[in-house]
Amino acid sequence: MKTSYRLITGVFLWTLLSPALPPAAQAEPTVYVTFWFDTEDYILPQADDAAKRLAEMFTKRGVQGTFKMVGEKARVLEERGRDDVILALSKNDIAYHSTWHSAHPTPSEYCRDLSWQEGVSEFIRREGVGLETVRRIFGVNGSCYGQPGGSWTPQSYAALRSFGIPLYLDVTSHVNLNDRPFWYCGVLNILEMGDCVMRTGWKDEEVKQACAKFDRVSQKLVQAGGGIVSIYYHPCEFLHRQFWDGVNFSYGANPPRSEWKLPPTKSPEEQEQAFKAFETFLDYIAHHAGVRLVTARQIPTLYPDRVYSGPLTPKDVQAIAEAFGKRLSYVDLGTRIVSAGEGLLALAQFVAQSEGEHRPDKIELEFAYGPASAPQRFLREGSFRWEAIRQGAQELIDITHQTKQMPTVIWVAGQPLRPEDFAVTLAAAVAADRFAGEVPLRQGELEAKKFVANDAPGLWGWVIFPKGFNAPHMMELAKLQAWTIKPAVLRKTN
Ligand SMILES: [Zn+2]
Repeated sequence: MKTSYRLITGVFLWTLLSPALPPAAQAEPTVYVTFWFDTEDYILPQADDAAKRLAEMFTKRGVQGTFKMVGEKARVLEERGRDDVILALSKNDIAYHSTWHSAHPTPSEYCRDLSWQEGVSEFIRREGVGLETVRRIFGVNGSCYGQPGGSWTPQSYAALRSFGIPLYLDVTSHVNLNDRPFWYCGVLNILEMGDCVMRTGWKDEEVKQACAKFDRVSQKLVQAGGGIVSIYYHPCEFLHRQFWDGVNFSYGANPPRSEWKLPPTKSPEEQEQAFKAFETFLDYIAHHAGVRLVTARQIPTLYPDRVYSGPLTPKDVQAIAEAFGKRLSYVDLGTRIVSAGEGLLALAQFVAQSEGEHRPDKIELEFAYGPASAPQRFLREGSFRWEAIRQGAQELIDITHQTKQMPTVIWVAGQPLRPEDFAVTLAAAVAADRFAGEVPLRQGELEAKKFVANDAPGLWGWVIFPKGFNAPHMMELAKLQAWTIKPAVLRKTN
């Protein structure tokens, strides 16, 4: 009696406590869709109503969109007494989209000539203000960030980490890894997504085409084991004929508030048609089989970085060493992917902890940014005693641990080495398991730099930038952070 009671209780408890299988468990891989709205127009008051109407469309369907708020927009909502808009938005996901958006200087403009650390501080100082406003009004931290227009900066990433914002959600080509989600500077990025970025025009015919495109893309994603589609709008574009900022801040113009002009608007019929078109598109996707709508707040859970969930094994370190022999970039270890920087740090730890015949049995990694600058003077040829190499590896780890950033140079026997050359030199030694004698210096190039755009006029085509704007130094800083780039892997859903 006692036993069977126990058994029954046990089965009952097991049933109660075991988590229900997610709905996608026996089904096809899930296609996640994220709808996001850059909620930025603080000039045209009717844009407040457009944001409310879109927010309510999601609430009515029991789903959520992501509203990336400009700080000044949140502030004017409060100033205009639009508690109804604030409440409607707060039933959705709230994200962040800079303090002033297009009023000059925008982030690329003020970070253009700053060092890495100066840029990080300046971004925190300027963009922290609007974020505080959004946090105060909506009572939550921004779930993600995306830059105003094309005003991207590498320094924003370290600022986002200090803000506790884990996701960069936008569309931009400054940094891109195969048109899919990726990690850069320890932040998850959903940017240029190729055919997985979608919108529809306002005509019925365009909606039909967009729905057909969604069918094609979602089918492709299912075949690839699941994935994410990024769909973006601006509440103001349902109303206007021209963007609020284009009217006021184009080509570096920065008029005082008293001279701001209202943008020209569509006719009431055209506005209705725009909302109707969007609503049809939303319904089509929301009711699509195998599709799950997700907000920016949910996305980081879909893409875990498993490098930090457990130590690397000696086999992982061997795989990194062999991969670096072919190219200096991220390395897919099967169960997880390490960036070039993580790979270098793993090799350095392995070497530093090896002594005679002893090899470490596990390597724990800590996140680190790429170097803050590139050395002007460094050695490219020569050879070193093994002990000097080992000391250099230990110093690399000590510096990185202290600063959370890879050093610009690694000193070996009093000589300055580039991290690239040091990485391939360590890789050759680990691959050959040769931890003694004289070690020739090898030459490496960080292939992962190709995922960061070169400074070119096309990169700065946003109409708000002053004419002829460029940012060569900033894009060089961005390339140094390519040490941190790697694909993001979707959590298995079946
Ligand atoms: Zn924007």
